[in-house]
Amino acid sequence: MPDETGDSEYLSDLSPKDKPWDSHRAIADTVQSLYRSARLDKYADRIETCGKLLEFALRSDDQGDVGIKLQSARFCRVRHCPVCQWRRSMKWQAKMFTAMPKIQAEYPTHRWIFVTLTVRNCDLVDLRTTVTDMNKAFKRLTELKIFPAIGWIKSVEVTRNQETGQAHPHFHCLMLVDSKYFGGRNYIKHDQWRSLWQQCLRSDYLPVVNIKAVKPKKNKLTDELDDIGQAIVEVLKYSVKESDLVADENWLVELTKQLHKTRAISIGGVLKTFLKEEKEDEDLIHIEEKEDIEDIEDSIKIYFGWREAIKRYTKQ
Ligand SMILES: [Zn+2]
Repeated sequence: MPDETGDSEYLSDLSPKDKPWDSHRAIADTVQSLYRSARLDKYADRIETCGKLLEFALRSDDQGDVGIKLQSARFCRVRHCPVCQWRRSMKWQAKMFTAMPKIQAEYPTHRWIFVTLTVRNCDLVDLRTTVTDMNKAFKRLTELKIFPAIGWIKSVEVTRNQETGQAHPHFHCLMLVDSKYFGGRNYIKHDQWRSLWQQCLRSDYLPVVNIKAVKPKKNKLTDELDDIGQAIVEVLKYSVKESDLVADENWLVELTKQLHKTRAISIGGVLKTFLKEEKEDEDLIHIEEKEDIEDIEDSIKIYFGWREAIKRYTKQ
């Protein structure tokens, strides 16, 4: 574990898999100061305390390799906190990866399609209404007789147009379909997806829709993510990318107002049996797919504290 190079006091050197902590906490510092400057002290105060001290324990994995694993930390749970947003996304991805073999066992011949449903950019002040309308439209879509999926997971992403400051909300959906859908009489072509989405949106323009068939899982010979793995990561990533969060103070403040208490991820159809939508107090500490094989020594704890001046977690 700790080596003699003198670098081992940093979390990112000691445990490469925990490297992202530094960058997410650094962006959290910026989000916190934007909220502070906008006099949203309630959010600034909460983010200020988020993940400031991390308690890790020594663990060995199933290969017998020794590493450290997060045992305890305090999370602020602010919607746009970069640290919490990252933890939530990792947690969702892990839950989905854990559920996949069960879904596959229950529906061995079914396949996945990755669908992105968009609308035209809207003014940020109209984001809440726009997303509400999109949710209604999605419900109509799933109720159409021709709708091919028996289960889906859907997330909302909002990006910021750099020139106009307008918002671009869109849905990423992973849909489980019968394999007969491909090449069958009910197969929906790209143009038809667009007009169906237009019909459900009740819009006077033809919206942009992307459809991708996900390749079935191959034998896992490498650690590389296969098609389905990539789709899972894409659907369950952040809902607002970090660079957009910190681009403009007013944009962040209005975004916070607009998305307050809206749902980022929803589950539908048969997938409800395998995945649950999270409660507000979800566990953001234990997010790994696999449980530990062995506790080496429960009493060995290592603490890392956030050093804002150098933007690194440093051993305490
Ligand atoms: Zn947080």
